[in-house]
Amino acid sequence: MSMCLSLIMIHKLFNKVFDKHPKAVFFTCMDSRMIPSRFTQTNVGDMFIVRNAGNIIPHSHHFMGEVTMNEPAALELGCVVNDIRHIIICGHSDCKAMNLLYKLKDSTFSSKTNRQLSPLRAWLCNHAHTSLEKYHQLELCGTNRPLMFSSELPLKKFAAYIDPEKKWSVEDRLSQVNTLEQLANVASYNFLKRRLESHQLHVHALWFDIYTGDIYYFSRQNKRFVEINEFTVDSLSDEVSRYYS
Ligand SMILES: [Zn+2]
Repeated sequence: MSMCLSLIMIHKLFNKVFDKHPKAVFFTCMDSRMIPSRFTQTNVGDMFIVRNAGNIIPHSHHFMGEVTMNEPAALELGCVVNDIRHIIICGHSDCKAMNLLYKLKDSTFSSKTNRQLSPLRAWLCNHAHTSLEKYHQLELCGTNRPLMFSSELPLKKFAAYIDPEKKWSVEDRLSQVNTLEQLANVASYNFLKRRLESHQLHVHALWFDIYTGDIYYFSRQNKRFVEINEFTVDSLSDEVSRYYS
């Protein structure tokens, strides 16, 4: 699917639910090949964008000691101060941070000494170890069985088939797992709980294939990432409207 068509489709997908300005707080990776305003066809004033290595939102327990504050501060600025109603977490293929995270399975590679030498290893070990653990479950169970994710609310737990068609690399599968794992981290912040529970705030997961320009939306109905294209956009749009209205 062409990049141009992807842009039209993603605009159509979110058009029904995004009626405010700014429309979303968008968390994605700092990778230079990711240009969020381009592949979401958004303009000046549309989105608050937060970027880091691996599109990670640290769990709130890291915030308790006032150690990690950038991402939670961004959530508060976007969702509380500016009353933005949608959070989008977007991962991508060939993510260098996820490639490194996959290597951190090795206990020597992720040793305390090595973490102290590498802020990137320390960042990933501290904040993405749950993604790695979840990925380990996928390796044990296989891609034909769904993984359970705790989601942004206890009642919204969901199942996800990761790469049931076996078309992605192990690192890309880990990237998809990591993207979904961030939904629970969003909900760990007390200042967002009431908004999430009263359906004033919604969390979406996207995944971007940087080589083809294809964009995938995580469909809770289909329990998998579904490519947004001319054949899927209407049903995805209905799902988004139904689920998030
Ligand atoms: Zn990346």
